[in-house]
Amino acid sequence: MGTDIYRFQIGDLQCVAVSDGTHTYAPPTFPPPAVFLFANAPREHLEKALSEQNLNPEQWTEWVSPYICLVVHTGEHKVLVDTGAGGLAPTTGKLVQNLKTVGITPADIDTVIITHGHPDHIGGNTDTEGKLVFPNARYVMWKDEWDFWNSEEATLKLEEHVREVLLGYAHKNLPPIQGQLDLIDRETDILPGIQAIAAPGHTPGHMALTISSRDERLLCISDTVLHPIHLKQPEWHAAVDFNPEKVVVTRNKILTRAASEKAMLLIFHFPFPGLGHITQEGEAWKWQPISVN
Ligand SMILES: [Zn+2]
Repeated sequence: MGTDIYRFQIGDLQCVAVSDGTHTYAPPTFPPPAVFLFANAPREHLEKALSEQNLNPEQWTEWVSPYICLVVHTGEHKVLVDTGAGGLAPTTGKLVQNLKTVGITPADIDTVIITHGHPDHIGGNTDTEGKLVFPNARYVMWKDEWDFWNSEEATLKLEEHVREVLLGYAHKNLPPIQGQLDLIDRETDILPGIQAIAAPGHTPGHMALTISSRDERLLCISDTVLHPIHLKQPEWHAAVDFNPEKVVVTRNKILTRAASEKAMLLIFHFPFPGLGHITQEGEAWKWQPISVN
């Protein structure tokens, strides 16, 4: 279970990084990884950045991305951040099974925070019959995000088959939570110690979180960055980033804060468990993953 669950503590809060599995992004469904992840990167700079990560643009044909959800046990509340991808691929939808190994059943979760409405973050909201997987939870989402997925403009500029998957997931997994959903539109406390941060760009209402106890802090930044190279090249955006200019502004705001507060970061698509610290290096950031035994 070495890459499925990772327990850690933020002050008095018991936290667990929980894998939902991995997904392989590759042609023909997706562009080649370098094009998908770094859509606007100048070619010669891209080759240099890739080679620093021991990646060759011609040979890098697939991006195997982890999907990492978070559980926070506050003592009073059991909180889940994002629900994974459900049955998006045979390699996804492992969240519930991995929660069981840490003694949590879906009925125990009383709060589900959705960082944004992409399939890999909402796909575990419902089961194959469309029933809520976490039936007792209050759901929390940023209002702009909810409005976006219920609007006509949702994902219009994406390729047809990608748009179909995104809208299909939104239509299956968002309406069922509506009766137990709290929409927020400012940087408020969702629960004591858990605060919403506006992080628009990747999607219109993409949300990050601070999770604080005593003098320790975790910044759960979801898809503010997707790949470690985005920390070195924060102006490079992915093909799926809805508003590239806002992605860069949001990255700058949140990463500057993480570095100055020496907060731990949790990044959804990074190598498991997705936890580490950053330090500022000029216009970029240096990633230091936690050491996991
Ligand atoms: Zn994602």
